[in-house]
Amino acid sequence: MSSSAVAFARQNQPRFLDELKALLRIPSISTLPEHKGDCRRAAESLLAELKRMGMEHGRLIEGAGHPLVYADWLHAVGKPTVLLYGHYDVQPADPLEEWVTPPFEPTERNGNLYARGAADDKGQVMAQVKALDSLLASGRALPVNVRVLYEGEEEVGGEAIASYIASKPADLRADFALVSDTEMFAPGLPTLCVGLRGMIYTEIEVRGARTDLHSGVYGGAAPNAFVSLAQILAKLKDEDGHILIPGFYDGIIPPSPEELAAWRSLPFDEEQYRTAEVGAKQLVGEASYSVLERTWARPTLDVHGIPGGFTGAGAKTVIPAKAVAKVSMRLVPGMAPAKTFALYKGYVEQIAPAGVQVEVRLLHTGDPCIVPVDNPYIQAATRALREVWGKDTVFIRSGGSIPVVGDFSRHLGLPSVMMGFGLPDDNLHAPNEKFHLKNYALGIESVIRFLEEASR
Ligand SMILES: [Zn+2]
Repeated sequence: MSSSAVAFARQNQPRFLDELKALLRIPSISTLPEHKGDCRRAAESLLAELKRMGMEHGRLIEGAGHPLVYADWLHAVGKPTVLLYGHYDVQPADPLEEWVTPPFEPTERNGNLYARGAADDKGQVMAQVKALDSLLASGRALPVNVRVLYEGEEEVGGEAIASYIASKPADLRADFALVSDTEMFAPGLPTLCVGLRGMIYTEIEVRGARTDLHSGVYGGAAPNAFVSLAQILAKLKDEDGHILIPGFYDGIIPPSPEELAAWRSLPFDEEQYRTAEVGAKQLVGEASYSVLERTWARPTLDVHGIPGGFTGAGAKTVIPAKAVAKVSMRLVPGMAPAKTFALYKGYVEQIAPAGVQVEVRLLHTGDPCIVPVDNPYIQAATRALREVWGKDTVFIRSGGSIPVVGDFSRHLGLPSVMMGFGLPDDNLHAPNEKFHLKNYALGIESVIRFLEEASR
C-alpha cells in the first residue's frame, strides 16, 4: 500500500534528479580555501530549498569555517522529533585525469550518476530533503517533528558541528537522529549500521642526542632516535595481531551470539576482499576472529607515518636526534579513550630503550558506539526498509568512526539510526565517484516510510 508521499516522489523523480545534479555542480570542496565561496553556495542552495518546501526557522549557523544549515518543522503534536544529519561538503577531485566524465558535471551512465559527492554525501542529503519535500507537498504536514542539521566540514574534521552540538542548543532537542552517510552491505540489501569503532590518535616523539650527529664519529656510542622508536613500535603488537599493552583488552564487550550469527550469514567473500579490496598476498590479524569481527568488533593499532631524519636521494651519514611516529588505535564498545591512552602512554614510557627521552601525545579521540537492535527507531527503520526493498534488514557495524554519532549520543542523548544508501563500489574519495540511481529513488522512499513508521 503506497502512501501519497511515495506516489508524489515517484511522479517527481525526474525533477528530484535534476535538483541533485544542480547541487553536485557546486564544487563545495571544504579543504581548499579557493572553494570557500562554493561551500557557502551549496549551504545557501540547500537552505533556500528547505524554506521553499515549507521548512521553518531556516538559517545558516556561522562559525569559523563553513556554515551549518538548520531548519525545522515542529507541528506534529505528541509525535517524536527526529534530527536529520548529512554533509554538503566533498573531497577534492584529483587526480582529474582519471575521471571518465568531469567530477562537477554529473553524468548518468549504466544506471549510476557520476560526480564528486554523488554518494558522499549530497545524494544521501538530497534523499532526506526530497523525502521531506514529498511529504510536505502531498500532505502539507510531516508525520513526526523534524529538525535538519547539515554541515560543510565533515571531510575536514567537523569542528563547527562538534562545538555546536557540545553547546547543547535547544534547537537540537530531539528523540533520535537519522544519519545518512553510510552504505549498504551489498546492492539491494537494506542495511543499518548499528556500531562504530572509536579511536585515539597519538604521536610518539623520541629524542636521543642534543643535535644530529655524524655516524662515523659518534656511531656506536650515541643513541639513535629512529632505532629506539622502531624498537618501541615493534613491542606494541605481535606477529599475530595481538596488542601487547597490558590491560588493553580489559572490559571489551563482545558482540552477542545473535549478532555474530547474523554476520556469518552476510554475503562476504574473504578471497574477493583480499584480492580486490586489500590487494595483499595474505590477510593478517587475530586468526581466531573472522575478518568482519577483526574489522568491526576488535580493537586495532596502526602506525601511519614516521617523518624526519634523512630521506633525500643518496646517502647522508647522520644519527638523527629526533624521531616521531603517528600511531592510532581503533576502540570497540567497553573501551574508553582516556583509559586506553593512559595504559598506552605508561607502557611506551616503560619500554623506551636506554639513552632516549620519550613523549607520548594525544591528538584526538572518538568514543566507540553501539545502538541496540531492539531500539524502537531501529525497529521502525527495519519495517520501512522491508516495505521499500522487499527484504529483511541486515545489521552491520563499521570499523571506522562517524564522530557526529558519538557527539549526538554524548551531548544530546540521541541514538542514531545510520541508514545509508551508498554501495561498496561507489568510489568514495576516489575518481569516478557514483551514486546508484535506483538507490536515490528508493532512498527517498525509505526516508518517507521511515518517518511514517517512526510516528506510529
Ligand atoms: Zn560522508
